[in-house]
Amino acid sequence: MRDPDGPAVAEAIAELREAALGCVACQLQADRTQVVFGCGNPATPMVLVGQSPGEQEDQSGEPFVGRAGQLLTECLARCTIQRRHVWITNIVKCRPWTRTERGKGRNRDPEEDEIQACRQWIEAELALIRPKVIVCIGKPSAELVLGRPIPISQVRGRWFVDHRFRPAWVMPVLHPAYIVRKQGQADYEPLCQQLADDLETARQKARQLLKEPVQPTAAELANAEPTAPDPLDEADQPSLFDA
Ligand code: SF4
Repeated sequence: MRDPDGPAVAEAIAELREAALGCVACQLQADRTQVVFGCGNPATPMVLVGQSPGEQEDQSGEPFVGRAGQLLTECLARCTIQRRHVWITNIVKCRPWTRTERGKGRNRDPEEDEIQACRQWIEAELALIRPKVIVCIGKPSAELVLGRPIPISQVRGRWFVDHRFRPAWVMPVLHPAYIVRKQGQADYEPLCQQLADDLETARQKARQLLKEPVQPTAAELANAEPTAPDPLDEADQPSLFDA
């Protein structure tokens, strides 16, 4: 299914990206290599929103390309999603980092004022793309999109409805950086599969909403419970996020 508004959205996103590349709205601009804007398919029904770029993203200019990003890409591939099928972005576009005593840079979480300064860009991205499903990768992203405290470990994989984005269905998931730190431990592979399963559930929701673009009911608007994924339609899989 090809979105007839796709070219217009792509043009608008390209203009937004150009504007964001010159942003100096917070202190992170001083030590960045470049602004790391979102990438992928701007006509997608499914957007993935993470926290902030790390060192490799700062160098490459593309979100989620470091170890955590590679794990995310692998989990997407487990449910037949390629990066070009979705839009991948962060709530903060420049790398937050501190210099260690040895002169090296260490990633850090963004400060609240940095998140608030940068929210203009993620809000503009979401307003242009108008996704049907937003996957929030990690707690800060989920809290910004949903506008409330989110106990991520308790609610990952559950659906919320965000009223500001027409509305969009929102699913918080664990951040792959957390899972990467479990490598070598017994729960590493189960957590990888859990992330892949959550992404698959999100994919199925996007498919369902593309076919049946219905408004959520009143009951659904009050934080829906997780939905079981539909059986895979093998023949239709490659055209889900027609790129
Ligand atoms: S982090 Fe966001 S607000 Fe801060 S300088 Fe970069 S693009 Fe601008």
